[in-house]
Amino acid sequence: KEEYLRKPDWLKIKLNTNENYTGLKKMMREQNLHTVCEEAKCPNIHECWAVRRTATFMILGAICTRACRFCAVKTGLPTELDLAEPERVADSVVTMNLKHVVITAVARDDLKDGGSAVFAETVRAIRRKNPFTTIEVLPSDMGGVFENLKALMDAKPDILNHNIETVRRLSDRVRARAKYNRSLELLQRAKEMYPEIPTKSSLMIGLGETKEEIIETMDDLRAHDVNIMTIGQYLQPSKKHLKVQKYYSPEEFNELKQIALTKGFSHCEAGPLVRSSYHADEQVNAAAKH
Ligand code: SF4
Ligand code: SF4
Repeated sequence: KEEYLRKPDWLKIKLNTNENYTGLKKMMREQNLHTVCEEAKCPNIHECWAVRRTATFMILGAICTRACRFCAVKTGLPTELDLAEPERVADSVVTMNLKHVVITAVARDDLKDGGSAVFAETVRAIRRKNPFTTIEVLPSDMGGVFENLKALMDAKPDILNHNIETVRRLSDRVRARAKYNRSLELLQRAKEMYPEIPTKSSLMIGLGETKEEIIETMDDLRAHDVNIMTIGQYLQPSKKHLKVQKYYSPEEFNELKQIALTKGFSHCEAGPLVRSSYHADEQVNAAAKH
């Protein structure tokens, strides 16, 4: 029988199934839209959707061409490209009255442009219909093709977020196809293209990394001019995914946050339930000061 670590109390929180979302969830189904908030059963959904007015949309379909060993998104060969999706996302941002929206996408290695044209159009459509909503994009490495990144950056998002996910040593084991150095390079290139757009990256911990390796990742991100960092606990989405090697305590997260701030990040969010998009609305302003 396989041994699993016991989940500490601070992670045992009840999902808030407030009836307020029923309408929004219905809208998502009717519009054939997907959010990470729902797909990942994110525990912050009440705070994000109802209080902070933030949500994370996953565009370009619900099937990913990659199969990262920490990720719950379905893997397979996507069949279509939905050219009307940008307008539907933009309309939903209006309906949800969002202050901040995060747009992420499955990796579309089947498309020549990695899906960047539809991604960029989504940013533009949201901007047209919601001029006061801040927009954060969270692309995959888009096949490491920097013209694809340029197409997305030309739509001028408020934040470019690309996740490093894990420390260098574990990268090949944890991520499918994405490379540690390529992610660093993508972040650096984005900064060179539009220096005024803040860059951001997230690290999941609990996969067997050491504290030194976490600090080394901070240094690597800073060496590539990344402005914002988030650090959260890895949780195993199913028995087929990688096991949790360690649950970090809130105190340990706090210590990591303090270390990150001494490294020069303008903003760091770190905690057991912190996700890439958690409290993202605050980061726009924090970054703007730097
Ligand atoms: Fe959605 Fe991110 Fe908030 Fe979770 S933290 S509910 S994924 S916006
Ligand atoms: Fe999940 Fe992104 Fe990896 Fe696809 S590329 S499996 S969506 S983490």
